[in-house]
Amino acid sequence: MSADQNRTVNLRYFVVICDHPPNLCPHSNVIARKRFIERGTTGLNEMAKTMDIQIVFAGIPVPEHKIFMVLKAPNFETVRRLMVESGIVQLNTVKIYTTESFEEFAEEIKKSTPIF
Ligand SMILES: [Zn+2]
Repeated sequence: MSADQNRTVNLRYFVVICDHPPNLCPHSNVIARKRFIERGTTGLNEMAKTMDIQIVFAGIPVPEHKIFMVLKAPNFETVRRLMVESGIVQLNTVKIYTTESFEEFAEEIKKSTPIF
C-alpha cells in the first residue's frame, strides 16, 4: 500500500457556480473552445485529483452561460486554487459556496437564539 492510499482527508461539499458572457463561451470564442477541449474534461479531473478534490457533478445548463459543479474538497482554499490554476477564473466569474449537511445545520441552529 502506498503512502497515498494511507492518507485520509476529511472532505466537505462545495458548490461552485461559474458565469461567463456569450463572447467568452466555447460556442462562440475559439480560445475558450480550445481551453474547454484541452482542460474541461480529463484535464480538470486530473488536476482536481492532485488537490484531493472529487468532482461529484459538473454540468452546463445551456443555453445559459454558466457552469454548475458540486465538489468534495478538503477546504475552501483548495477549491479556490483549482478555479485559479485550471484557468476557469480567466473566463468566468466564479462563486464558491461552502455548505453544511442538513444534520450539521440542525445541530448549528440549536446554538442560536431565534429573533422573530
Ligand atoms: Zn456559454
